[in-house]
Amino acid sequence: MPSTVLEVNNLNTWFYTNRGIVKAVNGVSFDLKEGECLCLVGESGCGKSVTALSLLRLFDSPPGKIVDGSVKFEGSDLVHCSSARLRQIRGKDISMIFQNAQSALNPVFTIGDQIIEQINVHGHISREDSRARARELLQDMSIPEPERTLGMYPHQMSGGMKQRAMIAMSLSCNPRILIADEPTTAVDVTIRAQIMHILHELKARLNMSIIFITHDLSLVHEIGDRAAVVYGGRVMETGTVEDILKNPSHPYTRGLISCLPDISTDARRLPSIPGSTPNPLELPDGCPFNPRCHSVMEICHSSVPAISYISDVHSVACHLYNEGKDGK
Ligand code: SF4
Repeated sequence: MPSTVLEVNNLNTWFYTNRGIVKAVNGVSFDLKEGECLCLVGESGCGKSVTALSLLRLFDSPPGKIVDGSVKFEGSDLVHCSSARLRQIRGKDISMIFQNAQSALNPVFTIGDQIIEQINVHGHISREDSRARARELLQDMSIPEPERTLGMYPHQMSGGMKQRAMIAMSLSCNPRILIADEPTTAVDVTIRAQIMHILHELKARLNMSIIFITHDLSLVHEIGDRAAVVYGGRVMETGTVEDILKNPSHPYTRGLISCLPDISTDARRLPSIPGSTPNPLELPDGCPFNPRCHSVMEICHSSVPAISYISDVHSVACHLYNEGKDGK
């Protein structure tokens, strides 16, 4: 049985703005096992990325603040540990690939300098050895002419090259956990396939644990072992990828799956979930999905649903299950 490498309990991250309190993450809990890929799935604005940033406290504070919860990693609670301890862990033990390589890379330093700096922050090895390591990392990312690429600035590279260079940087210290926040959003399908192949290979070769954030269920199918469906800053359903894709139980998960395009029909319009994700400044009382849910009941407007277990590994937060109905 693989051991648990990360345990997130009741995480709440709020932002105190002039317009009010933005409740971006509201009681998120999950765990991550060694060598597994857990996908955080949901529409844009549902709280996936802020959850990921909260794990390493990578947001501006103020206005952001983790108001409750814990993130346990190797005996440390990353919510309450010192900044010095967190700096040791960031990039070395837990690394992150950001959504937009263009803004994550520094435009005034070469790719080589940026990767070498990352290696030296945690490694303290000679300039020559760290340059050789940087070259090897670019090679692993299937970047042609790695030596020449080390001397390039971000603006001289294509979007796909920048994304792969950022992945190389995040892997420079062989992290135990990689957080990949929509790493294929800004690249074309060919580069997307390459990046997915690289992540697969790393997971298998290094037994790396991955938190993969996406709105794309086809990627969940491609890389995930388990998935947590997030909405309104809460986890709505958790299970194996098979549970989520073949036996979706929460009305929101079923809605997401019903929106997948079906090329076997000649329907001209893609189905969609009516309405839009809630404004985190004005989350509805009770279940955050209640304005869009076709199964909504009176209790859904006043009470946040508790977690119900469908099996040991499949859970759902919905009153349909609290009430003892199967909801189908
Ligand atoms: Fe729908 Fe109620 Fe379940 Fe929320 S708790 S998903 S509103 S049935």
